[in-house]
Amino acid sequence: MLAHKYEELGGEMKRLADLVIEARRLHAQEHNLVLQSIRLLVQLGNLNAAVNHRMSPEKFAQYLGLSVDQYYKRKRVGQMMRFFPEITGMLERAETTLSNLVAIAPKLTQANKETLLPGIKGVTKREAEGFASRITPDGQILDREETIQLTLTLTKSQFAQLDRAKEVVAACGHNPSNEQVVLKAVDDLLTKRDPMQKAARAMARLDQKARLEVNSSESRVAQALTDSGAIGLEASTRSGAVGLQVLTSSGAGTISIAKGQTILDPTGARTSWVAECNQPKSRLPQDQQRPRPAIAAKVKHAVYIRDQGQCTFAGADGRRCSSKGMIEIDHKTMWCRGGDHSAENLQLRCRMHNQLTAKKELGLTSDDYVKTAWQRPGAFGR
Ligand SMILES: [Zn+2]
Repeated sequence: MLAHKYEELGGEMKRLADLVIEARRLHAQEHNLVLQSIRLLVQLGNLNAAVNHRMSPEKFAQYLGLSVDQYYKRKRVGQMMRFFPEITGMLERAETTLSNLVAIAPKLTQANKETLLPGIKGVTKREAEGFASRITPDGQILDREETIQLTLTLTKSQFAQLDRAKEVVAACGHNPSNEQVVLKAVDDLLTKRDPMQKAARAMARLDQKARLEVNSSESRVAQALTDSGAIGLEASTRSGAVGLQVLTSSGAGTISIAKGQTILDPTGARTSWVAECNQPKSRLPQDQQRPRPAIAAKVKHAVYIRDQGQCTFAGADGRRCSSKGMIEIDHKTMWCRGGDHSAENLQLRCRMHNQLTAKKELGLTSDDYVKTAWQRPGAFGR
């Protein structure tokens, strides 16, 4: 029975290996065919084939069985290969793509090819463009930020909206460029919607409020301190809470003050006035059915800032997940198992890693999870 199972698995592995070999063979053949096609197109170009067939280049491309885009790309690379024979080898070994080569074509010179060509191996077209934007014609690499070209495809009415946006942004007779309008729109959107920026603003507001509270507290406390023989006062603010270091003739004490609380506890010892912080700690009895309030905005913001808006999942090799999109708030100890809404119990997770944990912990299927995720009040962006 078991032997039979292994044999089955062995056959499966054999089939897999065969398929991989077949794919490699086919793709090598494909690269070869493309190179042959490029050489043919160069020859046809030299013979003015399109004109002789009384066709526009576009028509001629279709006549040859290529899309217009393929036709122009292959012709362009063909021209490049005449001046830069090393490109042929790169294409044979599939180290780069026609798109990458076409993207850097206007920047490529005999003087910079040693720098530029290796830089476009195994990268995306966007990366190739970015790299090329930093290379000078004589082969220097500029120490400046890469630029990337972006193409927008808009409908007529969308384009009218872009024009309208230009009018709105225009100021003092200065007409903004398309880039400026798009960048302004992105900036406005991030200011309004980026959880990281929102969190930073909220924290700044809290700090400001805390500082004001300390200022007013200081004057109220000063008199009492003089009466009690204290000789100094140091104030520090942290988000939300106010701490006062009280230096007295017999040592240092601390007062923590929360909003709306009497500052001096008349029953406290002279050297150590401690007022309990009255921040709500929602530790309800461990019950599957306990109601789940929304996570306080203040806590969410603190978690967001602490985790830098990025998924905190770390793999076995210690590398952290780089995801900053579709970020959700995850409870280290799950709510249904008694976990609370405190910042210590919360962490940022991307949707995939949040699902992974939930599946592992609760044995949910993805469908179950999606259902509960949509109902969760704690998630960002909803
Ligand atoms: Zn992640």
